[in-house]
Amino acid sequence: MLDMQNFINVERIEPNRRDSNERVEDFREIYDIFSKEEASVQASRCVQCGDPFCHSKCPLHNYIPYWLKSISGFKNELAFKLSNESNPYPEITGRICPQDRLCEGDCTLNDGHGAITIGSIETFISEYGFKKGLKPEFPGIITDKKVAIIGSGPAGLSCATYLLRAGIKVDMYERQNRAGGLLTYGIPGFKLDKEVVARRVKWLEEAGMSLHINSEIGKDITFDEVASEHDAIFLSIGAETSNRAKLVNENAKNVFMAMDFLRDIQKKLFHEEYDKKYEVEGKNVVVIGGGDTAMDCLRTSIREGAKSVKCLYRRDKYNMPGSKKEFKNAKAEGAVFTYNVTPKEIIANSDDEVIAIEMQKTILSNKDENGRSSIEIIKGSEFRVEADIVIFALGFSASTPDFLAENGIEVNKWGAIEVDKNHETSKSGVYAGGDCKRGSDLVVTAAAEGKDAAEAIIKSLLT
Ligand SMILES: Cc1cc2nc3c(=O)[nH]c(=O)nc-3n(C[C@H](O)[C@H](O)[C@H](O)COP(=O)(O)OP(=O)(O)OC[C@H]3O[C@@H](n4cnc5c(N)ncnc54)[C@H](O)[C@@H]3O)c2cc1C
Ligand code: SF4
Repeated sequence: MLDMQNFINVERIEPNRRDSNERVEDFREIYDIFSKEEASVQASRCVQCGDPFCHSKCPLHNYIPYWLKSISGFKNELAFKLSNESNPYPEITGRICPQDRLCEGDCTLNDGHGAITIGSIETFISEYGFKKGLKPEFPGIITDKKVAIIGSGPAGLSCATYLLRAGIKVDMYERQNRAGGLLTYGIPGFKLDKEVVARRVKWLEEAGMSLHINSEIGKDITFDEVASEHDAIFLSIGAETSNRAKLVNENAKNVFMAMDFLRDIQKKLFHEEYDKKYEVEGKNVVVIGGGDTAMDCLRTSIREGAKSVKCLYRRDKYNMPGSKKEFKNAKAEGAVFTYNVTPKEIIANSDDEVIAIEMQKTILSNKDENGRSSIEIIKGSEFRVEADIVIFALGFSASTPDFLAENGIEVNKWGAIEVDKNHETSKSGVYAGGDCKRGSDLVVTAAAEGKDAAEAIIKSLLT
């Protein structure tokens, strides 16, 4: 076994990343997975803090120092069990969590030595385990209880995992053609291979989950039907309504909302029916926004053969909201960034097709109580950027299907579902979690809420 606290002798390394010229040719993941030796040596850098900040900062409170110690000693099966105990899908969070803001950001070594590569080691532990034939374990359906999960994204998949571990039958309803929510139709394949998501879904089905795809609750099946056949319901319907800039000509042809664009390109890649208007080959694409979704639109456009791909963002690069890693990857792949600009108007031709976007320059002024600078527009600073396609990536809000109000399920002023400390909504026996409850956020927070809700449901049904 390697000694721990090896950070003096061993530098932080990240897994090998495919060269940018090569990776823009396809939608395959850009990072390799650590080898057994790399993972072990990197894990041996861990200080084994008595009160580990990484564990506290991880929304799932993963036992990070324990699995690092196990993997450093090549005890891969133990690491696999520990990692899969607290996390419903470690190989997914390891790939796409913004670790710099979570576990790695709070690692004691993140003070100049370089944080432990927690995310990459987490991915390695599960992928290596799967290769060796390890699988998540389930007891089979051993209770007479039945829970419906509406929405198959990370929150729903997490809730299903923990209910199935307790032997409770799960019916999962999904309006799309495939399960996974934004893991499948939002986050592009160069960040998360779609087979990785499908594998987890398959294991849940093998464990006793019935998956009902193309089944929208409130349209194809009524909420009452679902309620009458189940002992509890978990709502994990996400928050996919795109925020709009409310500009002149915003509805012109070739002005897209980020999710519509990303979903249809993913459908194209799945060889499913998609709308050809989202094809960007040979076009000048302008993306408005500076978060992770904007980076995904830029990088998708590059892979789809756009002529030019520009990102226009209203603050400076130090105030971009997304992950630094994704920003750097987008830049390396050829996206061109302009900071301190905000859109004023979409310019369209007589056929109502976008031809340019009028922008204005901004400066940052005083910071608010959250440390965020407000934006002032510089008068008379208007300029035009030519564009064949404009994509807005300005965040998402919760949608509020009619069945919520019809069933007395309360939402707050932003449309997010209200819950109590047990994740139960204002309607008894109906729980909620993930983006539909907290507003658009992260996979790992959706995972944590699905898990916590499952624990509350299990307690209410089985004790
Ligand atoms: C482009 C993009 C990139 C992102 N990248 C990252 C990232 O790198 N890392 C990260 O941590 N997070 C990322 N996120 C955020 C993350 O994907 C979400 O926070 C997370 O998916 C929320 O999970 P959820 O289960 O609450 O909702 P969703 O993933 O939105 O799933 C909700 C599901 O419910 C279904 N549904 C809705 N209504 C009904 C109904 N009435 N009947 C049946 N089914 C219904 C929907 O079709 C959907 O499949 C990204 C988001 C986007 C949009
Ligand atoms: S789930 Fe995310 S935050 Fe938690 S240990 Fe894994 S990568 Fe870090």
